[in-house]
This record gives sequence, structure tokens and C-alpha cells, in this order.
Amino acid sequence: MKLKGTKLYGSVMQKCPRCHEGDLFESKNPYNFSKLFDMPKHCPKCGQKFLLEPGFYYGSMYVSYALSIAYLVAVFVAMTVLYPEFSVTEYLIIAVGSLFLLTTYFFRLSRAIWINFFVSYDANAKEKFDQEKKEESKKG
Ligand SMILES: [Zn+2]
Repeated sequence: MKLKGTKLYGSVMQKCPRCHEGDLFESKNPYNFSKLFDMPKHCPKCGQKFLLEPGFYYGSMYVSYALSIAYLVAVFVAMTVLYPEFSVTEYLIIAVGSLFLLTTYFFRLSRAIWINFFVSYDANAKEKFDQEKKEESKKG
């Protein structure tokens, strides 16, 4: 199965939605708190803008909310299967505790999913961008 070129690949790998090569975030580590929010303005590989409009990523909060709920449900189902005698307190400690640890990852994942809603993959994006750069350097 070829994953590159799918929205899933772009979202999970947190790559540029257009070329799937440039990184969406400046630091790959979601626990590097000083760079948590830092995104390049443009994709270094294809020139795709990452901030499509002012406040673009406010919408990713809805994605983040959906991801969190899905995660809490998944933990509940997993515990029901693996450890059916759990108490509500145990569920809250495990589910909310692990969700807390995953917050920064979900934050980035939701931004990646959000931009993937609006930008489509283009297998030739990088070549086009390189071509444009060449033409510009010829002109000027
Ligand atoms: Zn790109």
C-alpha cells in the first residue's frame, strides 16, 4: 500500500500537505516547548503557504476536540476489553493522564489534519517550485 500522497500520510507525518516533503513544523519533537508553535511561513520544498489566512488554525481546535474525544473513547474500549474491572477513578487517571501527555502531539496533529482539509497533494509540486525558482533566477 502506498501511503505517500494520501491525506493520512501528510497528517500523521506532519508534512507539507502539497508536496509531502517539507516539514510542517520547525522542530520535529512535539515536546520541544519553545518551538511548539513554530511553523515555517512557506514550505521549503514547494513554496506552499502554511498560514492560508489570518487565524487559519483556530479551526484546528475542532479537530483537536474530536481527536481527544476519539482518544478517550478508544481508551475506554481498550480498558473494557483488557481490564474489565476498572473503576471510574482508574479510567480518569489513565485516560486523562495519558491525554495530558499527548496534548502537544494532538495539537500538532490537529493542525496537520486541518491544513490537509484545504490543500491537496500535488506530486509535481516540488518540480514546479524548482522550475519557478530557476526561471526567476534567470530573469533577475
Ligand atoms: Zn511542500
